[in-house]
Amino acid sequence: MTDRTTQPTARSTALLERARTVIPGGVNSPVRAFRAVGGTPRFMASATGPWLTDVDGNRYVDLICSWGPMILGHAHPQVEAAVREAAGRGFSFGTPSENEVALAEEIVARVEPVEQVRLVSSGTEATMSALRLARGATRRNKVVKFAGCYHGHVDALLAQAGSGVATFALPDSAGVPESNAHDTIVLPYNDIAALETAFAEHGAEIACVITEASPGNMGVVPPQPGFTAAIRRLTREHGALMISDEVMTGFRCSRAGWFGLEGEQDGAPDLFTFGKVMGGGFPAAAFGGRADLMRLLAPEGPVYQAGTLSGNPIATAAGLATLQGCTDEVYARLDTVAHAIAGGVSETFTAAGIPHVIQWAGSMFSVFFRDQPVRSYADAQAQDTAAFGRFFHAMLEQGVHLPPSAFEAWFVSAAHDDQAVEQVLRALPAAARAVTAS
Ligand code: PMP
Repeated sequence: MTDRTTQPTARSTALLERARTVIPGGVNSPVRAFRAVGGTPRFMASATGPWLTDVDGNRYVDLICSWGPMILGHAHPQVEAAVREAAGRGFSFGTPSENEVALAEEIVARVEPVEQVRLVSSGTEATMSALRLARGATRRNKVVKFAGCYHGHVDALLAQAGSGVATFALPDSAGVPESNAHDTIVLPYNDIAALETAFAEHGAEIACVITEASPGNMGVVPPQPGFTAAIRRLTREHGALMISDEVMTGFRCSRAGWFGLEGEQDGAPDLFTFGKVMGGGFPAAAFGGRADLMRLLAPEGPVYQAGTLSGNPIATAAGLATLQGCTDEVYARLDTVAHAIAGGVSETFTAAGIPHVIQWAGSMFSVFFRDQPVRSYADAQAQDTAAFGRFFHAMLEQGVHLPPSAFEAWFVSAAHDDQAVEQVLRALPAAARAVTAS
């Protein structure tokens, strides 16, 4: 697919050329390269509130929000003030500092089953460490994950992963030793029978089941009623741990993430992973859970885990200010904005006869270009990705930056004001025409 844009893109194009020489594909995270949708990725120069401005001066309503973290919008004044204040006191100490304690307390206060957390620098590190802890605690090796769920680029968790791995239709990744992948059991999402069979066959060897609390990395595919409860029941029966990956949903779907919406009824997971919102746009993530498990970590226990920049004072200041800014009004605004945009898409697509289904997890949603509900990765793969590509470019052309893949959630922020929402709604009819004009 080629760029048919009438926007100026000379500076982004030149930067991509420069970048390709020194950075593989010109990007530091694959989906940014626009490979799935074609055309030139826009290099951003600045962002404020709901707006992104690229190096050629084009302005976009941002529906990526840094893939989740910017829940309050870009350069939020309170977060910016906290970052400047923290930076004024030094960048990294390599010793404990107070903000780490405050951020850990904030997380523990919000997510009831989490008694202790350890702070790390990325979601990948959080899931990798939670996995090691689960294996150390159970003294077992096998891990169950679900097709279409993405948990970062952890060797053992890349098999049939969502996000970029789905975007590029990779079955898994080169460079993952067979011995490592061998201990990963991949099951279809929302399939209780498959889970029961796996436990019947390997129950005594399974250390944990890791699941996205409500998957967002194959598009938004919430758990069917009873599915998460079945994970909880089977792990408990077989002495395995349940890890709920809330890197994307945490503190976004509600104050207490997905757990705050449906957790009580499904039963508390043993371990959680968090990231994105809790870092406020800086590298901060965490894993946590029951204190008896968390105490198995070094220096108290035998499971080693560490990080030079873990609990970085600037990242923790940004994360804390962001969580403190996530008031009831913020969650209400996210709902309003998400429903206004999704409602507009639905109305426009219905009028244009474009098959689509919109799925939700709290205010997180995505639009699938197919007319059947999406309950699994196989369903998500059956959508019309070429139609998404045409839609994506027609929206971009009109100043709306969607995630450049059909396999991603659309993210909004509380800073998406009426003007930003209007710009999205105004762009929809022409984008729908681009979809049908194939
Ligand atoms: N888990 C989930 C559910 C995610 O959505 C992501 C990132 N999209 C990760 C883990 C990995 O996080 P990071 O990119 O910070 O390593």
